[in-house]
Amino acid sequence: MGRVALVTGGTRGIGEAISVALKDAGYSVAANYGGNDDAARQFSQRTGIPAYRFDVSDFEAVQAGVARVVSDLGPVEVLVNNAGITRDTTIHRMTFEQWDEVIRTNLTSCFNLSRAVIEGMRERGFGRIVNIGSVNGQAGQYGQVNYAAAKSGLHGFTKALAQEGAAKGITVNAIAPGYIDTDMVRSVPPNVLEKIVARIPVGRLGKAEEIARGVLFLVGDDAGFITGSTLSINGGQHMY
Ligand code: NDP
Repeated sequence: MGRVALVTGGTRGIGEAISVALKDAGYSVAANYGGNDDAARQFSQRTGIPAYRFDVSDFEAVQAGVARVVSDLGPVEVLVNNAGITRDTTIHRMTFEQWDEVIRTNLTSCFNLSRAVIEGMRERGFGRIVNIGSVNGQAGQYGQVNYAAAKSGLHGFTKALAQEGAAKGITVNAIAPGYIDTDMVRSVPPNVLEKIVARIPVGRLGKAEEIARGVLFLVGDDAGFITGSTLSINGGQHMY
């Protein structure tokens, strides 16, 4: 049996592609999700990967959820913090709830999950954590003070945890995707999306599988010299 990998938000979109790529590479994968049971059931039927429902923004629920994964599959050696949401609007219209939900789901989740697996990784002297950030966490984005703050925080979190893990065989890296063709991006109004695509140097949206390939590279046993890095997979958008 391969290493155990836990992918948050692993049943849809980018997370689904990551779960499948890891399974195909021989990992024993657990895919977490938040509440869409139908999508999770269909995902598990399609892929044979077990799905675990728990809210990544809830510290206690995460500890219990990770304990279930460990009891079913074994200690988590690879963690991909991928679950994320958007609640876009300009700050003068944004409610506290829209701010708070995005910060808790996209950033506090990284603490909740990492906290649940880090002691085991330290004891075993091996761990791989990949956090899915965003080009909008690097550059900011109109209408996304909540999302850009959370993703920017995630990039800082990555570098701090990388320093803590380095001597223990634990690497921590981030991927900053650009616009990827998933449900999240399909919810952007077409006229806005058209303008976004016009600003992507390669001239198209990315594919979820293109992010998954980056994750696969970073979690590999032979990627142990890469830590605290951010891999930009965004068609060149990070340069603008
Ligand atoms: P999707 O909306 O397609 O899928 C989101 C996944 O996260 C689902 O599995 C969902 O579960 C899960 N999720 C959401 N909230 C929670 C929660 N509270 N607890 C547990 N799971 C939760 O998103 P994408 O695939 O597009 O995005 C994945 C990641 O990539 C996110 O972090 C996003 O910010 C980032 N990203 C995406 C980009 C894009 O262009 N798509 C660009 C840059 C970054 P459920 O099915 O139950 O709702």
